[in-house]
Amino acid sequence: MSAVPVEHGDELQVFGDAVAGCTRCRLSQGRTQVVFGAGNPHADLMLVGEAPGFHEDKQGLPFVGQAGKLLEKLLAGIGLQREDVYIANVLKCRPPGNRDPQPDEIEACESHLFRQIELIDPTVVATLGNFATKLLSGRPLGITRVHGQEQKTTLGGRSVLLYPLYHPAAALYTPAMLKVLESDFARIPDLLGLAAVPPEPELALVPAPAPPAEQLGLF
Ligand code: URA
Repeated sequence: MSAVPVEHGDELQVFGDAVAGCTRCRLSQGRTQVVFGAGNPHADLMLVGEAPGFHEDKQGLPFVGQAGKLLEKLLAGIGLQREDVYIANVLKCRPPGNRDPQPDEIEACESHLFRQIELIDPTVVATLGNFATKLLSGRPLGITRVHGQEQKTTLGGRSVLLYPLYHPAAALYTPAMLKVLESDFARIPDLLGLAAVPPEPELALVPAPAPPAEQLGLF
Protein backbone atom coordinates (compact mmCIF):
# COMPACT_ATOMS: atom_id res chain seq x y z
CA MET A 1 0.00 0.00 0.00
CA SER A 2 1.47 3.39 -0.96
CA ALA A 3 1.71 6.07 1.72
CA VAL A 4 -0.59 9.08 1.26
CA PRO A 5 1.51 12.26 1.39
CA VAL A 6 0.52 14.57 4.26
CA GLU A 7 -0.12 18.08 3.01
CA HIS A 8 1.22 20.71 5.42
CA GLY A 9 -2.16 22.50 5.58
CA ASP A 10 -3.50 19.25 7.03
CA GLU A 11 -0.56 19.04 9.41
CA LEU A 12 -1.31 22.54 10.67
CA GLN A 13 -4.93 21.55 11.24
CA VAL A 14 -3.91 18.41 13.13
CA PHE A 15 -1.51 20.49 15.22
CA GLY A 16 -4.28 23.05 15.93
CA ASP A 17 -6.58 20.26 17.09
CA ALA A 18 -3.88 19.06 19.51
CA VAL A 19 -3.22 22.58 20.86
CA ALA A 20 -6.98 23.04 21.47
CA GLY A 21 -6.59 20.91 24.59
CA CYS A 22 -3.45 22.64 25.91
CA THR A 23 -3.18 22.97 29.70
CA ARG A 24 0.47 24.09 29.89
CA CYS A 25 -0.32 27.28 31.80
CA ARG A 26 -2.90 28.89 34.10
CA LEU A 27 -4.63 30.66 31.19
CA SER A 28 -6.26 27.36 30.22
CA GLN A 29 -8.49 27.67 33.29
CA GLY A 30 -10.12 30.97 32.34
CA ARG A 31 -10.36 30.69 28.57
CA THR A 32 -13.48 29.98 26.52
CA GLN A 33 -11.27 28.30 23.91
CA VAL A 34 -7.77 28.24 22.49
CA VAL A 35 -7.29 30.82 19.72
CA PHE A 36 -4.80 28.91 17.61
CA GLY A 37 -4.56 31.16 14.55
CA ALA A 38 -6.30 31.51 11.20
CA GLY A 39 -5.68 32.10 7.54
CA ASN A 40 -3.81 30.62 4.63
CA PRO A 41 -1.65 27.66 5.78
CA HIS A 42 0.68 28.39 2.84
CA ALA A 43 0.88 32.16 3.44
CA ASP A 44 4.00 34.10 2.50
CA LEU A 45 3.10 36.68 5.13
CA MET A 46 2.45 35.73 8.74
CA LEU A 47 1.35 38.31 11.31
CA VAL A 48 1.92 37.69 15.01
CA GLY A 49 0.05 39.66 17.68
CA GLU A 50 0.08 39.50 21.46
CA ALA A 51 -2.83 37.48 22.82
CA PRO A 52 -6.55 36.96 22.25
CA GLY A 53 -8.89 39.55 23.74
CA PHE A 54 -12.55 39.28 24.73
CA HIS A 55 -13.97 38.83 21.20
CA GLU A 56 -11.19 36.51 20.06
CA ASP A 57 -11.73 34.28 23.09
CA LYS A 58 -15.47 34.09 22.34
CA GLN A 59 -15.12 33.50 18.59
CA GLY A 60 -11.96 31.39 18.60
CA LEU A 61 -10.33 33.59 15.94
CA PRO A 62 -7.48 36.11 16.17
CA PHE A 63 -7.98 39.84 15.57
CA VAL A 64 -11.76 39.96 15.21
CA GLY A 65 -12.32 43.08 17.38
CA GLN A 66 -11.53 46.75 16.68
CA ALA A 67 -7.81 46.12 16.21
CA GLY A 68 -8.70 43.37 13.74
CA LYS A 69 -10.84 45.78 11.69
CA LEU A 70 -7.86 48.13 11.44
CA LEU A 71 -5.59 45.23 10.53
CA GLU A 72 -7.97 44.29 7.69
CA LYS A 73 -7.90 47.90 6.43
CA LEU A 74 -4.11 47.96 6.51
CA LEU A 75 -3.99 44.67 4.59
CA ALA A 76 -6.50 45.98 2.03
CA GLY A 77 -4.20 48.99 1.53
CA ILE A 78 -1.49 46.63 0.23
CA GLY A 79 -3.90 44.55 -1.83
CA LEU A 80 -4.27 41.65 0.63
CA GLN A 81 -7.17 40.11 2.52
CA ARG A 82 -6.97 38.20 5.77
CA GLU A 83 -7.50 34.95 3.84
CA ASP A 84 -4.20 35.62 2.02
CA VAL A 85 -2.12 35.78 5.19
CA TYR A 86 -1.83 33.75 8.40
CA ILE A 87 -2.61 35.51 11.69
CA ALA A 88 -1.56 34.16 15.08
CA ASN A 89 -0.58 35.40 18.54
CA VAL A 90 2.23 34.85 21.04
CA LEU A 91 -0.32 33.53 23.55
CA LYS A 92 -3.11 31.26 22.37
CA CYS A 93 -5.35 31.91 25.39
CA ARG A 94 -6.83 35.16 26.69
CA PRO A 95 -5.15 36.66 29.77
CA PRO A 96 -7.78 37.72 32.33
CA GLY A 97 -8.93 41.32 31.81
CA ASN A 98 -6.53 41.52 28.81
CA ARG A 99 -3.54 42.00 31.12
CA ASP A 100 -0.02 41.67 29.70
CA PRO A 101 1.31 38.17 29.04
CA GLN A 102 3.49 36.89 31.90
CA PRO A 103 6.98 35.52 31.14
CA ASP A 104 6.07 31.98 32.24
CA GLU A 105 2.96 32.02 30.01
CA ILE A 106 5.05 33.10 27.01
CA GLU A 107 7.56 30.35 27.79
CA ALA A 108 4.82 27.73 28.06
CA CYS A 109 3.21 28.82 24.77
CA GLU A 110 6.13 29.74 22.52
CA SER A 111 6.74 26.31 21.05
CA HIS A 112 3.20 26.38 19.62
CA LEU A 113 4.10 29.54 17.68
CA PHE A 114 7.47 28.18 16.53
CA ARG A 115 5.81 25.01 15.25
CA GLN A 116 3.21 27.11 13.40
CA ILE A 117 6.01 29.06 11.71
CA GLU A 118 7.75 25.80 10.80
CA LEU A 119 4.58 24.39 9.20
CA ILE A 120 3.48 27.58 7.42
CA ASP A 121 7.04 28.44 6.28
CA PRO A 122 6.34 32.13 5.52
CA THR A 123 8.77 34.52 3.82
CA VAL A 124 7.97 37.45 6.11
CA VAL A 125 6.89 37.33 9.76
CA ALA A 126 5.48 40.70 10.84
CA THR A 127 5.42 41.08 14.61
CA LEU A 128 2.71 43.38 15.95
CA GLY A 129 3.83 45.20 19.08
CA ASN A 130 6.37 44.61 21.82
CA PHE A 131 5.60 41.08 22.99
CA ALA A 132 5.79 39.40 19.59
CA THR A 133 8.78 41.52 18.56
CA LYS A 134 10.83 40.78 21.68
CA LEU A 135 10.02 37.07 21.60
CA LEU A 136 10.77 36.51 17.92
CA SER A 137 13.78 38.84 17.66
CA GLY A 138 15.23 37.38 20.87
CA ARG A 139 16.22 40.95 21.80
CA PRO A 140 14.84 43.30 24.46
CA LEU A 141 14.61 46.34 22.15
CA GLY A 142 11.17 47.99 22.20
CA ILE A 143 8.94 48.45 19.17
CA THR A 144 9.50 52.23 19.07
CA ARG A 145 13.20 51.57 18.41
CA VAL A 146 12.85 48.76 15.86
CA HIS A 147 9.58 49.17 13.96
CA GLY A 148 9.97 49.14 10.19
CA GLN A 149 13.45 47.56 10.37
CA GLU A 150 13.44 44.11 8.78
CA GLN A 151 16.01 41.54 9.80
CA LYS A 152 16.91 38.09 8.53
CA THR A 153 16.56 35.43 11.17
CA THR A 154 15.75 31.77 11.73
CA LEU A 155 12.45 30.86 13.38
CA GLY A 156 11.06 27.35 13.79
CA GLY A 157 14.04 26.19 11.75
CA ARG A 158 12.96 28.42 8.83
CA SER A 159 14.86 31.33 7.40
CA VAL A 160 12.48 34.33 7.48
CA LEU A 161 12.47 38.10 7.28
CA LEU A 162 11.28 39.44 10.64
CA TYR A 163 9.46 42.76 10.30
CA PRO A 164 8.43 44.55 13.51
CA LEU A 165 5.38 46.81 13.38
CA TYR A 166 3.37 48.83 15.86
CA HIS A 167 0.39 46.96 17.28
CA PRO A 168 -2.86 48.04 15.54
CA ALA A 169 -4.60 48.36 18.94
CA ALA A 170 -2.07 51.03 19.94
CA ALA A 171 -2.44 52.81 16.60
CA LEU A 172 -6.26 52.91 16.97
CA TYR A 173 -6.05 55.81 19.39
CA THR A 174 -2.82 57.50 18.29
CA PRO A 175 -3.04 59.09 14.84
CA ALA A 176 0.72 59.69 14.62
CA MET A 177 1.36 56.01 15.29
CA LEU A 178 -1.23 55.03 12.69
CA LYS A 179 0.64 57.09 10.05
CA VAL A 180 3.87 55.27 10.88
CA LEU A 181 2.11 51.90 10.84
CA GLU A 182 0.63 52.68 7.42
CA SER A 183 3.98 53.65 5.96
CA ASP A 184 5.69 50.57 7.49
CA PHE A 185 2.87 48.43 6.07
CA ALA A 186 3.39 49.93 2.60
CA ARG A 187 6.84 48.25 2.46
CA ILE A 188 5.44 44.74 2.94
CA PRO A 189 4.82 43.98 -0.78
CA ASP A 190 8.45 44.86 -1.47
CA LEU A 191 9.66 42.63 1.38
CA LEU A 192 7.53 39.82 -0.04
CA GLY A 193 9.13 40.37 -3.44
CA LEU A 194 5.78 41.49 -4.85
CA ALA A 195 5.15 44.55 -7.00
CA ALA A 196 3.75 47.44 -4.98
CA VAL A 197 0.00 47.90 -5.31
CA PRO A 198 -0.29 50.20 -8.34
CA PRO A 199 -2.12 53.50 -7.81
CA GLU A 200 -5.16 54.13 -10.02
CA PRO A 201 -3.73 55.12 -13.45
CA GLU A 202 -4.21 58.82 -14.15
CA LEU A 203 -5.60 59.66 -17.57
CA ALA A 204 -2.71 62.00 -18.38
CA LEU A 205 -0.22 59.16 -17.80
CA VAL A 206 -1.91 56.73 -20.20
CA PRO A 207 0.06 56.90 -23.48
CA ALA A 208 -2.05 58.23 -26.35
CA PRO A 209 -2.49 55.80 -29.27
CA ALA A 210 0.07 56.36 -32.06
CA PRO A 211 -1.26 58.64 -34.81
CA PRO A 212 -1.85 57.12 -38.27
CA ALA A 213 1.40 56.87 -40.29
CA GLU A 214 0.43 59.66 -42.72
CA GLN A 215 0.22 62.12 -39.84
CA LEU A 216 3.76 61.33 -38.77
CA GLY A 217 5.14 63.05 -41.90
CA LEU A 218 7.08 59.92 -42.83
CA PHE A 219 5.87 59.77 -46.44
N1 URA B 1 -4.75 41.85 19.98
C1 URA B 1 -3.87 40.86 19.74
O1 URA B 1 -2.68 41.01 19.98
N2 URA B 1 -4.33 39.73 19.25
C2 URA B 1 -5.60 39.52 18.94
O2 URA B 1 -5.93 38.45 18.45
C3 URA B 1 -6.51 40.57 19.18
C4 URA B 1 -6.06 41.73 19.70
